[in-house]
Amino acid sequence: MRVTKPLVDETQRLWATGQWSQRQISRYLGICRATVRLIILGKYTIRIRENDEQQAAMFDPEAGPPEHCPTCGGMVYMPCHLCYIRGLKSRAIPLRRAS
Ligand SMILES: [Zn+2]
Repeated sequence: MRVTKPLVDETQRLWATGQWSQRQISRYLGICRATVRLIILGKYTIRIRENDEQQAAMFDPEAGPPEHCPTCGGMVYMPCHLCYIRGLKSRAIPLRRAS
């Protein structure tokens, strides 16, 4: 998936809490571990697009306190990041999987 500014910000925020491993962040946000590591090291640069402002609003750290997400049931900052990411994934073109 395309790594957007909000995803970069969220990766850095989660890492800064000290409660997430790179692997957990990778799985949670759906970006590869190499990218997570680059972001953490501050070596990942992206081109910010205009429509990212709308997405950025969904990752506003001032939006708290955490609420109980009615969709996934987790305690999250609303709107729910996990359900947002899942939504992005569900709209992505599915890759053919080896089975
Ligand atoms: Zn949710």
